Amino acid sequence: MKQEQKELIRSLRLQGWGYKRIAKELRLNRNQVQLYCKTHGLAGAGEFVKLNLPIWYEQNDRCIICGEKLDRKQRGRTKRFCSGKCRTKYYRAKKQEEEEAQWL
Ligand SMILES: [Zn+2]
Repeated sequence: MKQEQKELIRSLRLQGWGYKRIAKELRLNRNQVQLYCKTHGLAGAGEFVKLNLPIWYEQNDRCIICGEKLDRKQRGRTKRFCSGKCRTKYYRAKKQEEEEAQWL
């Protein structure tokens, strides 16, 4: 599976999409999608996935943005992102959220 497809599966699951629908949309095998979801904390209902994903990822040493396995051999602070790219993505999204909140 391509990285793009993985990210799409992740975001569609967060919107509550089922495995079958995702598989059809991305032209993948349903079993492939299901396996990916089960091994990446994306099983269950959409809302449940949304709530538990950050916790699951942290417990499983995975990047909270893309779900890739983290290399925790490095000493020091706990890593939450696999790369600078994901870190930027996270802070950008966070900033956007804060800006939007100001308008509420
Ligand atoms: Zn990442």
